[in-house]
Amino acid sequence: METSKITIAVDGFAACGKSTLAKALAKELGYVYVDSGAMYRAVTLYFLDHHISIEDADAVEEALKNITIHFENVNGQNHTFLNGKNVEEAIRSMRVSNFVSPVATVSAVRRAMVELQQEMGAKGGIAMDGRDIGTVVFKAAELKLFLTASIEERTRRRLVEWEGKGITDISAKEVEKNLSTRDLIDSTRADSPLCQAEDAIEIDNSLLTPTEQLEFALQLSKDIIEKKATGLVTN
Ligand code: C5P
Repeated sequence: METSKITIAVDGFAACGKSTLAKALAKELGYVYVDSGAMYRAVTLYFLDHHISIEDADAVEEALKNITIHFENVNGQNHTFLNGKNVEEAIRSMRVSNFVSPVATVSAVRRAMVELQQEMGAKGGIAMDGRDIGTVVFKAAELKLFLTASIEERTRRRLVEWEGKGITDISAKEVEKNLSTRDLIDSTRADSPLCQAEDAIEIDNSLLTPTEQLEFALQLSKDIIEKKATGLVTN
């Protein structure tokens, strides 16, 4: 049965519910879940804290050598660790959100992250969400999903998330600006821009509940896993 484990790539715009879906799929299937955005956020936090300019190629290379990122389960939640320190809360701040997309345009950063991500998924049995998972990181993923939702809905969801954390001093305008600016930078950068892989299935989840979306994606996954187990899918 081990050989029928697949790789699931979930890509899409900011705050489209990619993490929610990839996490839930991994849980249902007993797979590893990786939030690749958290990795770019951790690098960004390091750059901000150490005053690393993304224009300074040598400083960036040096910094990347000093960065280790890993994930750990903390009270049932997937937390990001930067150089052994839990940075889950810090990487979700507006300070990091406003600087992460420029950092993610840097090829040296992308090379380092992609290498790590490919190592994490080398054995399959993984659901990873991001921007270039289906197009660059796991080009041969058996299931590629590309999520979209209206900017209004994405802003609303992100605000609810902030409120859930007790943060109420961020305006809808500020959130919307952050999301649309990141989408623009992410989809127009030269190195691995955000785009839908040719073989990805697009899901507009503006009007779907997380449960409806999960049921749909889980059925797709199970169909592919079954085909793989019977030798009908080979990669
Ligand atoms: O997924 P999340 O919104 O947390 O990602 C934060 C940022 O990290 C994105 O806006 C993008 O700039 C970058 N990113 C990326 N490639 C990925 C995942 C995230 O460039 N695979």
